[in-house]
Amino acid sequence: MSKFVSERLARIEAYTPGEQPQDKKYVKLNTNESPYPPSKGVIDAINANAVERLRLYCDPECKKLKGAIANLYNVQESNVFLSNGSDDILNFCFMAYGEGGVAYADITYGFYPVFSELYGIPPTIIPLNDDFSLNVKAFKGQNKLVVIANPNAPTGMEISLEDIEEIVVSNPNSVVVIDEAYVDFGGTSAIPLTKKYDNLIVSATYSKSRSMAGARLGYAIANESLIADLNKIKYSTNPYNVNTLTQIAGLKAIEDNEYYLDNAKKIIATRDYTVKELQKLGFKVLPSSANFIFATSPKISGLNLYLKLKEEGVLIRHFEKPRIKDYNRITIGSREEMEIFISKVTKILGE
Ligand SMILES: *Cc1c(COP(=O)(O)O)cnc(C)c1O
Repeated sequence: MSKFVSERLARIEAYTPGEQPQDKKYVKLNTNESPYPPSKGVIDAINANAVERLRLYCDPECKKLKGAIANLYNVQESNVFLSNGSDDILNFCFMAYGEGGVAYADITYGFYPVFSELYGIPPTIIPLNDDFSLNVKAFKGQNKLVVIANPNAPTGMEISLEDIEEIVVSNPNSVVVIDEAYVDFGGTSAIPLTKKYDNLIVSATYSKSRSMAGARLGYAIANESLIADLNKIKYSTNPYNVNTLTQIAGLKAIEDNEYYLDNAKKIIATRDYTVKELQKLGFKVLPSSANFIFATSPKISGLNLYLKLKEEGVLIRHFEKPRIKDYNRITIGSREEMEIFISKVTKILGE
């Protein structure tokens, strides 16, 4: 860091993204990407014509894409906000609504504490219950910004729509953000509730179920005035936050929605297979509604399993945090990848 940097920035511990190694090819089960490529429509749409359009600025309103997303969720265009990955939406929400503090779980997406430090927002950290379920009751009546990943990461566990509604109703003077990065893998979306409540923002992403992590595309659905707030930040920072190629790809992906829903079904089936195999090996696996599972073995530490699998060419995610250090988060890849994973785990446990 330079001597010129602000004190707050100097103090911050930045978010650590999962490894994206460029040295050799791993079975990559560490950052919850899809094992399947984008749909054929998307691949074909990124052609020479599309690239030529890079000469011009992109449409800052993302009109076509916004229309398609509004249509998909049966809301108005004024209820849709598009962003450079959903991390941007979360960032903007902390910026816009964090003045009175923020509440989130102790075990959840690692970006929430980073944003709260970045903006100097004092956090109220609500521990998950002993079984890693969300302490729904504690989120009620917080009267500050509430941020919940549903399904949660890295646990994969979800709360019901009834619970979400109660949290939203009990915090009428503050915004509740539901981060639905993993909702397509068996969760229930809170998007319909955004029509009923003026304090609910649902955030979603193309990075997981829509095979476009590298394109950086996220969207939020909410009441029109909340969307106007997010747009105000966008137009005060970076109006061209979704590039031309990503807008084209994002639109095609909506047209090919069936393909992605099918892929999500395959991943759910592969998740069931992986859970059963791990349970046979003595693992405890938390119930997952996501494209990853969170698992622990009484026979090997979380760190050791992570390191040994890496030597074997399989990457999973380990978090060196007290409550969860004996767990690992394992992305559900293709059936073939998970068979390799299971065979490597079997080998390591046998050594
Ligand atoms: C992956 C993830 C996101 C967002 O990712 P983007 O690639 O920025 O859209 C948001 N929330 C959670 C909980 C995630 O795991």
